Amino acid sequence: MIFLIATQNKHKKTEFQRILAPLGIDIKTAGELGLQYPDVEETGTTFEENALIKARAGCLLAGVPTLADDSGLCVDALDGAPGLYSARWSSDTEGENADDESNNDKLLRLLRDVPDEARTAHYVAAIAAVFPDGREFTTRGECYGRIAHERHGKGGFGYDPLFLVSTAGTASNEQAATGEFTQTFGEVPPAVKDSQSHRSRGLQNMYEVLKREL
Ligand code: IMP
Repeated sequence: MIFLIATQNKHKKTEFQRILAPLGIDIKTAGELGLQYPDVEETGTTFEENALIKARAGCLLAGVPTLADDSGLCVDALDGAPGLYSARWSSDTEGENADDESNNDKLLRLLRDVPDEARTAHYVAAIAAVFPDGREFTTRGECYGRIAHERHGKGGFGYDPLFLVSTAGTASNEQAATGEFTQTFGEVPPAVKDSQSHRSRGLQNMYEVLKREL
């Protein structure tokens, strides 16, 4: 069964495909279906709303069940920022040039005087599925850690060089509070990040929903 994924990001497509393939789902991008995914404004006030906005636009375009995600980093000492604005957070100082580097610089600057135990943070990913018959579902995955004092590692993307993971695990605040923080998501092998990430947890939850619905 063909599902559209409302992103052109190849890495995300592969991850969705790997986790949902056992359900007989074949994930296609708009380009692979000979379509152009429209520019959609992410006007939601939650990750779930934004994921739904993207999935609805894709479903309207292609007429097939559509999956989308929306994700970001929430830092406790910053009252949950950058949250929904994670991608272009430093555009206030960097304008059009805001990118991962300037976002990470901003995060380090704002947390300069914050001690280790107060540098807690979590990634959030919302996954949405929208069907042509009107059925809509969202699931969520979270991944807990701490913000480092400087960048470590060249792997991953976004805030990964600053996102320290606990040796006790990343599934909850309790786990993240107890272990040692020796590596960032920029340093761990991709397979380790994939197995612990907010996106893979959200996708596992979506797997259960689709298993019930299909
Ligand atoms: P999007 O949902 O893919 O558009 O991601 C929004 C933004 O959240 C990204 O541009 C990153 O800044 C941040 N982000 C989301 N997931 C991750 C991750 O796994 N690692 C690092 N940064 C992430």
